[in-house]
Amino acid sequence: MESVRFQCQPGCTRCCDVEGYVYLSEQDLKRAARHVKMSAAAFEARYVYRTRHLLRFRKPRGRQCHFLVDGGCALHPDKPTQCRLFPFWPELLESRRAWEATASRCPGIGQGPLVQIGTAHETAAEMKRAYPSMYEE
Ligand code: SF4
Ligand code: SF4
Repeated sequence: MESVRFQCQPGCTRCCDVEGYVYLSEQDLKRAARHVKMSAAAFEARYVYRTRHLLRFRKPRGRQCHFLVDGGCALHPDKPTQCRLFPFWPELLESRRAWEATASRCPGIGQGPLVQIGTAHETAAEMKRAYPSMYEE
């Protein structure tokens, strides 16, 4: 791929409802806690599951994300890195097949301005910095 197009579509929340986990960096945790006016410790105790190398949101029963509310993300603009950068994730940009499979679920892919692939990869590099254990070689 030499370039891609993407523009998130107003009113869409499809990627928030995909089966999977929302991971956070330590910085994401602090930002999200501040957004809802909680201490990081209280926010973590209530919403976050911490493993040795990763933090992720706990899932509410029957839903993918506690913060998906009518009208969108209750944490916007302080949502976790993976949410903020989607679909500019290394694993999607490095595989045309993965990008096209994601495009079938994300109506924003193929819309909006052209983004040169180098620029898209620069954006995606933030994923590697935020979640180093997920991208270890
Ligand atoms: S699925 Fe695509 S268009 Fe819809 S909210 Fe997610 S990024 Fe935006
Ligand atoms: S944190 Fe916000 S953007 Fe991320 S999955 Fe939950 S509702 Fe969607």
